[in-house]
Amino acid sequence: MKIFILSSGEYGSKIVNGIANNGFAGKIIGMHEFPPSEELPEFIEDISEYIPENIPKADLIIAVGIHGDVNMVIPEVVEKSNAKSVIVPIYHPQQVPIGLQNEIKKSLDEEIAIVFPKPFCSLLPIGDKFIDEFTTVFGKPKFEIQTDKVVKSVKVLRGAPCGSSWYIAENIIGTPVDDAEFEANNKLHNFPCSSSMNIDNATGDTILHLASYRMKEAIKRTLGFTNRAAVVDEEICEGSGGCEHFCLNSCPNVLSGTNTISLKTDGKAYIDPGSCGVCEICIKECPYGVIEVYEEKISVEKDSK
Ligand code: SF4
Ligand code: SF4
Repeated sequence: MKIFILSSGEYGSKIVNGIANNGFAGKIIGMHEFPPSEELPEFIEDISEYIPENIPKADLIIAVGIHGDVNMVIPEVVEKSNAKSVIVPIYHPQQVPIGLQNEIKKSLDEEIAIVFPKPFCSLLPIGDKFIDEFTTVFGKPKFEIQTDKVVKSVKVLRGAPCGSSWYIAENIIGTPVDDAEFEANNKLHNFPCSSSMNIDNATGDTILHLASYRMKEAIKRTLGFTNRAAVVDEEICEGSGGCEHFCLNSCPNVLSGTNTISLKTDGKAYIDPGSCGVCEICIKECPYGVIEVYEEKISVEKDSK
């Protein structure tokens, strides 16, 4: 697979380094760097002056850290490179608004696969040859952990493209198993995760928090438990009655495509402790006060995604 990268700013550089340092250096056949967003106009009349001069033949285009209208170079780059697949990771709420995402999609031929993972470390296979090949190494984190009361070894089966998963894997060795999720979260912030701390209106949370939920989920799914999650009291949940499922409609994970809250056949809500980030938004939104944070060992389903 040949990857051509369009990059801008510190976030772009971090992703390029993360991908190159963790096994894909030989697949990157070229890169074009745009000036940082502060030096680019928000609205661009004539996009042609921003189209890179040298565009190699490629399979996958990754456009990282580019804000606003400059992203409209993507359709031209896809055409000139003959690429079949595109990844545009979203790390900042104002980076590529939905309207611009739709405009980019409309300008591409129908057979081109394009995804806008928010954040990049939520990317999963989608059934596209090149995007799926990328997710054999990078995307939503997945670990294999050996324990003996403490974390003895951690293998990254799939890691965040910035490289944070490999950093976490090295730095939680020796941590008591019960503290592994908490400690891994500290290490993500030490790395540090470069996603934005601004509230993303589409999900009601920050993209940095969404990244931390996905990383903690990887630890929980490997160990098979968590010590903290929001839990619905099934007895008094009004989901089968008049409630409009405010929890489901406000959970940032659900709004970003993760199945954290689901409705059972009777309409009552269930929270998956594996992906719950304990943001407590559902607790505030539930008008019946039936959700609470449990601080005790709760089993988590191990899965292979
Ligand atoms: S908002 Fe509250 S009552 Fe309604 S479905 Fe969710 S948990 Fe149940
Ligand atoms: S606390 Fe509630 S809103 Fe927040 S992630 Fe968990 S289920 Fe979703």
